Amino acid sequence: MDIQPLRSAFQGQLFEPGDTGYDAARQIWNASIDKRPGLIARCSGVADVVAAVSFARENNLLTAVRGGGHNVGGRALCDEGIVIDLSRMRSVHVDMGKETVRVQGGATLGDLDRETHVFRLAVPCGIVPKTGIAGLTLGGGVGWLVRKYGMSIDNLLSCQVVTADSRVLTADASENADLFWALRGGGGNFGIVTSLEFQAHRVHTVLGGLLLYPRNVALDVILHFRDFMLSAPDEVTAYAALLHGPDGTPLVAIIVCACGSISEGERLLKPLRGFGTPIVDAIQPMPMPAMQALLGPSFPDGNQNYWKSTLQRELSDEAIAAIVSHAERMKSPLSALVVEYYGGAAGRVPSNATAFPHRDLPWDILFISQWTDAAETPVHKDWARAGEELLRPFSANAHLLSALDVEPDDVINTAFGSNLPRLAAVKKKYDPANFFRMNCNVKPTPAQTEGH
Ligand SMILES: Cc1cc2nc3c(=O)[nH]c(=O)nc-3n(C[C@H](O)[C@H](O)[C@H](O)COP(=O)(O)OP(=O)(O)OC[C@H]3O[C@@H](n4cnc5c(N)ncnc54)[C@H](O)[C@@H]3O)c2cc1C
Repeated sequence: MDIQPLRSAFQGQLFEPGDTGYDAARQIWNASIDKRPGLIARCSGVADVVAAVSFARENNLLTAVRGGGHNVGGRALCDEGIVIDLSRMRSVHVDMGKETVRVQGGATLGDLDRETHVFRLAVPCGIVPKTGIAGLTLGGGVGWLVRKYGMSIDNLLSCQVVTADSRVLTADASENADLFWALRGGGGNFGIVTSLEFQAHRVHTVLGGLLLYPRNVALDVILHFRDFMLSAPDEVTAYAALLHGPDGTPLVAIIVCACGSISEGERLLKPLRGFGTPIVDAIQPMPMPAMQALLGPSFPDGNQNYWKSTLQRELSDEAIAAIVSHAERMKSPLSALVVEYYGGAAGRVPSNATAFPHRDLPWDILFISQWTDAAETPVHKDWARAGEELLRPFSANAHLLSALDVEPDDVINTAFGSNLPRLAAVKKKYDPANFFRMNCNVKPTPAQTEGH
């Protein structure tokens, strides 16, 4: 490929196979992904993104977009083609007066938290600091503030987007409102988001951390966690996890964040902390960025990863029994089975107000296979797949876009649910040739299939 025309218009870095830095530039979080792009265009700003999109379009190149590189299915990369890499576009600017934040499209959650914390503010996002804020937000975005302040998309005020025809657009409630709607849950289908503006909230120190119990009481712990969450106030978000300690001991964990005052948090968490006899109660006041970083070490770069997940309307006793029994069959001490509960403010948004449709499905069960030896891949994938199958009778046949590994179209479509036809129409308007297709793809045609 003759990349000279791009080179003359580009200020960032360009990596071709064989170049120094090419192999590092094609590495992402999940070591199971081994793709070899024809060109990696690491952009320094919006002008580079525009130049790269034009070059890709004019040369008919398969195009992938990389933010934080945390998509489990490796959608940040493509074989051959071009990767438009935003990983150096990470600036964050807080407007103190308006309590808003503008982040560039390659910023990570850690970048965002670090800056907002200085101003005693926080934006609802996810739970691992190296995840990209753009990729996370385009899929919806759930984390420790989801019940109090909603999903990331519920706090999104505007986006700057480079479209497939190289235009630079603003998308917000009044300008390109159809695009703004689609960006809030429709994934990377509509353009490259070069910056995002969020409403922030006054969150500084939270009461949060881990409760650990031996695995043999997992059933009782998760039943109690379920009942506690069903009547918990919005200030409290908590997940349950079946996992192993560093020495391989099977455990059950509750990870909780109470984002109101510390004294109120102490009161609210009493019924959770008072249950049974935890081996460890490490719940304590901590700065919000520390809460956000708690689980980072559990998801290091360079391990093999494969995920399955399923959204549920309710979490029955039978489903909990199935979850606990499947955890016993876990094949790697690095794997985890996580029970997440959203609802609260996120659940009160109408399902067609944004492209994210699953406001009425607050339970997400995640089968996270993580291992180190690539030769063991089949057994770990089988465990995650078998878990999803086991829960199928309880499942709403729906998925979070952000949690989807490589899947066929009919599974991907369940992430868009009843919003798929409207998304397909917006796709047709802004990307009729399906230039942006290395994603959970919405086809630019009237769609036939719908989720729940
Ligand atoms: C360890 C881990 C923890 C996670 N925790 C959470 C969590 O707590 N909450 C949650 O909601 N999700 C979570 N996720 C899921 C995560 O939000 C998605 O995988 C998301 O796609 C990651 O975004 P990224 O920019 O890091 O990914 P990348 O792999 O870089 O990009 C993935 C896709 O996002 C799109 N994209 C990325 N950046 C842009 C951009 N600037 N413009 C247009 N499209 C773009 C593209 O389609 C791209 O193919 C987690 C994932 C991992 C691996």
